[in-house]
Amino acid sequence: MADLAVVGAGPVGSLLALTLARRGYGVDVYDRRPDMRRTQAVAGRSINLAVSTRGLHALHELGLEDDVLREAVPMRGRMTHAADGKTAFFPYGRSESEFINSMSRAGLNRLLMTRAEETGRVRIHFEQRLVGYDFERKLARFDSLGEIGAEVIVGSDGSSSALRDAMGGQISQEVLSSGYKELTMPALPGGGFAMEREALHIWPRGSFMLIALPNLDGSFTCTLFLPFEGAPSFAQICSEEEGGKFFDRFFPDAVPLIPDLPRQLTRAPLGKMATVKAAPWSRGTALLLGDAAHAIVPFFGQGMNAGFEDVGLLCASLSGDWAADFAAFFAARKPDTDAIADLAVENFVEMRDKVADPEFLEIRELEHQLQDRMPGRYLTRYQLVTFTRVPYRVAQRAGRIQGEILSGLLRGDYDFARAEELVEKRLRPLIP
Ligand code: FAD
Repeated sequence: MADLAVVGAGPVGSLLALTLARRGYGVDVYDRRPDMRRTQAVAGRSINLAVSTRGLHALHELGLEDDVLREAVPMRGRMTHAADGKTAFFPYGRSESEFINSMSRAGLNRLLMTRAEETGRVRIHFEQRLVGYDFERKLARFDSLGEIGAEVIVGSDGSSSALRDAMGGQISQEVLSSGYKELTMPALPGGGFAMEREALHIWPRGSFMLIALPNLDGSFTCTLFLPFEGAPSFAQICSEEEGGKFFDRFFPDAVPLIPDLPRQLTRAPLGKMATVKAAPWSRGTALLLGDAAHAIVPFFGQGMNAGFEDVGLLCASLSGDWAADFAAFFAARKPDTDAIADLAVENFVEMRDKVADPEFLEIRELEHQLQDRMPGRYLTRYQLVTFTRVPYRVAQRAGRIQGEILSGLLRGDYDFARAEELVEKRLRPLIP
C-alpha cells in the first residue's frame, strides 16, 4: 500500500501527488474520469484559466514555473468593451512584472500528471470513482475496484467531493443565480489574435457580462455569464435565432469575431457556479483540499491558485503526524479560503457592473494617484490577492480599509497628504 491515497487527479490532486512524491512518499491517485492524455475529452468546463502569483509560486517550488509559463499568454490588464464599442485598457498592476497568465487548464493538468508519474512514486488509477470511505476501518470504496486500504486519504475530488460527503461535516453551498457558457473566438487566418492579445477582455453589461481570455494559438475562450432566469437570461435564449439577437443587441463588436456564434451558444453546456464552505476539512487521517474543501466562484481568478497554495502550505508543515497536521492545516487555512470566497463573489459585481460605473472609475483613479505618491507602499486589494502571497484574510481586511480611505478622499473629507498618513497608520501594519 502506498503511503497516501489521493482522490481526484485534477490540478490540485496532481500537484499534491507530485509534491509529496518529491518528498519521498508513495502516492496512489484515483480519478473517476478516463486519462485525459489519451482521450479527446476536455477536463472540467473551464477551458483556460488565469494563473497568478500563488499558483506560480507552488509551481516554482517544483521547478515547473518556466515550463508552464512557456504555454501561457500574459494578460497585463482588463480591456473593457463599452456598449458603443469603445474600448479602454486598465493595467492590473503598476509595473511590467505584474500580470496574470492565461493557460489551458487541461494542458496544465496533463503536465502535472505526467511529472507526478515520472517520479516513479505516483500511480494514477483512472475510471475509479470514490463512493465512500469507512473512517473506522480506513477503507476507501470505489465503484469498480471495490474496497482499498487507505490509512491516509486526501480528497481533491472537486466541488461535489465524495470524501466530503463521507466526512459528514457541515457544508454551506450558495449557488449563484447566474450560469455560464463558453464560446470560442477563433484565431485570424494565419494565426493572429482578433483582439488585443495581452488582455482579459470584458463586456460589462450590468447584471451580466461576456469575458474573453487569450489562448496561445491565437483564439480566445469567451465566457458569457448571465442569470438563469429573468430578463435577459439564459431562459430567454432557447434558439439560435434568440442567441444571435441577444449578441447583436448587447455585444455587437464580438459578433463578427465569432463566426458560428448562435450555433455555439445553443450547443454549449450551461454551467453552474457555487461557493461551497465546508467545515471541518479533516477527520483523523483524512483531509479535503482544493475545490473539495472550498469551491469558489471564478471572478477573482483564484480557485485553482488557492488550491495550489493549499498544497504548498500543507506540504511545508508536515511533521509525520498526519492527523495533527491535517487538523492544524484546516484551522490555519480556513479563514483565508472563507475570505477569498467572499472576495470572489464581490468581484462578480465589480466586473459585470462597476467597471462601467463613473464613480467606481473615479475611485480607481484616486487610488492610482495614491499609489504614485507612495511607490511600492500602497498595494491595491487586487494586487494583494493576485501578485502577493499575503494571506487572503489580510487582503480582504486591507480592501475594506482602502475603501474607507478612498471614499473619504472622493467626498473631499481630506487631502492626499492625510490619506497617505491614514495608509501608513491603518494599512501598512497589516501587511507583512
Ligand atoms: P477539480 O478541477 O474539480 O478536479 C477534481 C478531480 O476529481 C477531477 O479530475 C474529477 O474527475 C475527480 N473526481 C471527482 N469526483 C470524484 C470521485 N468521486 N472519485 C474519483 N475522482 C473524482 N481558477 C483559477 O485559479 N483561475 C481562474 O481563472 C479560474 N477560472 C475559472 C473559470 C470557470 C468558468 C470555472 C468554472 C472555474 C475557474 N477556476 C479558476 C477554478 C478552477 O477551475 C478550480 O478551482 C480548480 O479546477 C480546482 O481544482 P481541483 O483539482 O481542486 O478540482
